[in-house]
Amino acid sequence: MLVRLRPGLSRVWRGPQTVQIGLTPGRAAVLDGLTPDDARLIEQLNLGLDVRELDAGHVPPGPARGREILGLLAEAGVLLTTRTGRAALARLGTARERLAPDAAAWALSDPDHGDAWQLVEARAGRRVHVVGTGRTANALATCLAAAGVDVSAEQAGTVTPADVCPLGPSQEDLGRSRQQVTGWRIAQARDLPSSRRDASRLPDVVVLVSRSAADAAASVDLHAREIAHLSVVSREADIIVGPLVRPGHGPCLHCLDLHRCDRDPRWAHVLAQLLSAEHQRSAVSTEEVSLSAIAGALAALQVLAELDGRTSPAALGATLEVELPDGLVCHRPWPTHPACACSTLPTRLPPAGLLAGSPVVPPFAPPAPGRAPGARSPHRPATMDT
Ligand SMILES: [Zn+2]
Repeated sequence: MLVRLRPGLSRVWRGPQTVQIGLTPGRAAVLDGLTPDDARLIEQLNLGLDVRELDAGHVPPGPARGREILGLLAEAGVLLTTRTGRAALARLGTARERLAPDAAAWALSDPDHGDAWQLVEARAGRRVHVVGTGRTANALATCLAAAGVDVSAEQAGTVTPADVCPLGPSQEDLGRSRQQVTGWRIAQARDLPSSRRDASRLPDVVVLVSRSAADAAASVDLHAREIAHLSVVSREADIIVGPLVRPGHGPCLHCLDLHRCDRDPRWAHVLAQLLSAEHQRSAVSTEEVSLSAIAGALAALQVLAELDGRTSPAALGATLEVELPDGLVCHRPWPTHPACACSTLPTRLPPAGLLAGSPVVPPFAPPAPGRAPGARSPHRPATMDT
């Protein structure tokens, strides 16, 4: 058996007899009382060691002491004892070298995945469909493609200056079809053998990227087909990633609207206007370039967590809200709404304007103080916090 220290872990000597392996709290180990022979074993482990050589007494400090050190390192989670087979690595083709940092990072993030190459390789067989335009959508699609995922995008219209960003179209793409340009970007980022693609099967995850508010009606078919989906909404100075919906398990997009209706009786009216074609067409893009890059990458991580089979991605039943100026992330969990049948039956949602059974009214405009007799003070709509 070949063993080695996990790739990517820094190895520093805190003194002649003390080594520290790893820098991240909770994932690092310190071994004290080491002899010079022990130190040679540590150096050997950085390159890889055949345990049979150790047991045969060919490697210092000998079988008993060596096994004791290996046991301590394994217990601390810094020793790699399994390796992905050559067949899986070969399937990554020339992308293997580019994906080496990803495998090293994911192996450190979750030691249960061994050297993580199997995890990375499995993503090449997973499909994600991204619906929506803008910088966040482009950053998300490009990140997923670079991670090896088979990504398709659904984008209307042509590239505008507001689409241009480091992870999306460039100035040279202005006026070209968004769908075509994003397809090129995806192909450029995902340098895997084409034999790994299978465009005929349904996507494993669909990402719905929208402006101002999520349209729960867009997720009805995904519920019926039991396809996991992630909502991403760019608002004015923040972007909301989530919830990640697993149909039949936890809150859906309709649940969130029902919660918002509970907190804000006018939410149905507000939502109908935000989702109207007129608003979507006329709203000025506020996808700040750094914020959209953060949100796109954050959304990509949520999708990868779902594809990798993690039990509880952060956006599962929750929204991750990133806002200017600092780009910090707020995690907001949401329960399933008791009036929503999403946990028991395929969801059939009414049009957004009918959520509260009321007609659309003019845009929300808080009255100014003293504007009219009996007018209330300006206030923040409850749903604008979510
Ligand atoms: Zn629901």
